[in-house]
Amino acid sequence: MTFFSVNEKCNGCLACVQNCPASALNYTDRENSRRIYHNMSLCARCGNCWRICPQGAIEFQQMLRGRWDEVAAMELVRCGVCNEPIYTAGAEKTLTKKIGRSVAALCPRHKNTAPIGTWKRVAAGRSVPAGDGK
Ligand code: SF4
Ligand code: SF4
Repeated sequence: MTFFSVNEKCNGCLACVQNCPASALNYTDRENSRRIYHNMSLCARCGNCWRICPQGAIEFQQMLRGRWDEVAAMELVRCGVCNEPIYTAGAEKTLTKKIGRSVAALCPRHKNTAPIGTWKRVAAGRSVPAGDGK
């Protein structure tokens, strides 16, 4: 999801381009086509273009509201004893490859305190009853 986009209401008046204090908007007129360009690395996120556009064509709300956008989602690995999130399955795969053996899904707290039987069961991928190994 891009922070800045121009919707179909744009009529190409260029008010946004002419009033951008950071020169982050530009345009070209080639043959029968006017194109509007936005450069995110120059944009000061002032919202002036959004306020000034007579057509309500600039979709800038996300940035002005400062909301969070999800950019990635991945499988989480939890501690086999207390269920606390410890790392992602991708990070586990990277680590396993690097050290040449599988790692036990235990949080730092339980890695040091879990009895050896618990550690082995977690390493073997079996569930551990609540309270076991504490
Ligand atoms: S001010 Fe609005 S209508 Fe005018 S060119 Fe910019 S986005 Fe399009
Ligand atoms: S938010 Fe401000 S700096 Fe960015 S394009 Fe719009 S007017 Fe220019």
